[in-house]
Amino acid sequence: MLIAELAHHLIDARAATRRPDYRCPACHGPVRLHRGQQVGPYFAHLPASPCRLAGEGETAEHLRGKRQLATFFASWGLTTLERVLPAIQQRADVWVDRATQPVAVEFQCSPLSVHGVTHRTAGYHRLGCYPLWVLGHRYAHQKLNWSLLERFMTWLPRWELCLLFWDVTTNRLRVVHHLYQDAAGRYGGQTTVVGSVAALMVGPTHMVTYPSLDLAAVQRRWTRQLARSAPALRPIQEQVYLTGHHLLGFPLAFATTAITPPFLGRGLLLWRIVFGTWLFATTAPLTQQRVTALAHRSFCLVAAHDQAVRVQVPHLCDHLRTQFLAELTTAGYLRATATGWVICRQPQWRH
Ligand SMILES: [Zn+2]
Repeated sequence: MLIAELAHHLIDARAATRRPDYRCPACHGPVRLHRGQQVGPYFAHLPASPCRLAGEGETAEHLRGKRQLATFFASWGLTTLERVLPAIQQRADVWVDRATQPVAVEFQCSPLSVHGVTHRTAGYHRLGCYPLWVLGHRYAHQKLNWSLLERFMTWLPRWELCLLFWDVTTNRLRVVHHLYQDAAGRYGGQTTVVGSVAALMVGPTHMVTYPSLDLAAVQRRWTRQLARSAPALRPIQEQVYLTGHHLLGFPLAFATTAITPPFLGRGLLLWRIVFGTWLFATTAPLTQQRVTALAHRSFCLVAAHDQAVRVQVPHLCDHLRTQFLAELTTAGYLRATATGWVICRQPQWRH
């Protein structure tokens, strides 16, 4: 930690001299001043301290990043390093007294579970403060994946769904924004490096176009995955097989290259194939209720989600269902009735 207590005052490790009576501002247990070779001065609990807010053994990256982030966010309001919040038993790495709403910046360099993020986020919300998770090196080198997005994805004006990364070597914030999934389920986003809070408020200055999805390449990938019985596709192929079809022969009426918010698990295309397959295999009347249930079951089968820790998309499944049914109706496969739909013709599966 960078801040300790001395005679009821807070002192920055940079201004501290070696003496035996520094205390932790959270638990008031004794802490020692250390002077690392590359790290700069910092305080640490004695080994086996029972401090609940001690956090991980701090890395050079974490110590350095906290100071840099305090400087970076200073134009938003008065920043405080390691603000102890006794009411919620948390310590914010950097607290920003922003006029509209205080911001707690968490510089996350160590692993943290979904439960940990949920718990800490809820704590900050109880205080009426906005938690801003900024991720360190460990996360910056990960390929975009659901586990990362589920924990740390947030929504910011002009950046939409995004992740924030801090690089201590360049002293810059990297925003991976407009996060999305392609129809085959791959995650993507735009990347913008911002050097100031002003630039963060302005939003992205340019956007690159999303790569278009090559459906033939997706089918080749699925062929390889099915050949080695990959667990991602097996349950889906099993369900399609039960209706007498093969996943790879899906009708063109189900195909799509649309992008979605990054909640779709194995992707929009598989969801449409499963939902479409079940829809056209249904012999009972296609009531609103039955169709809604099928869409939701398909949503679960492709491991889609309707929320992350910080973002919820409760109507995503409804929205995709409405869109798909409208397409199938326009193409003449379905006809809407007062109570639901009737099948006009079956889409053709390919061999
Ligand atoms: Zn402590």
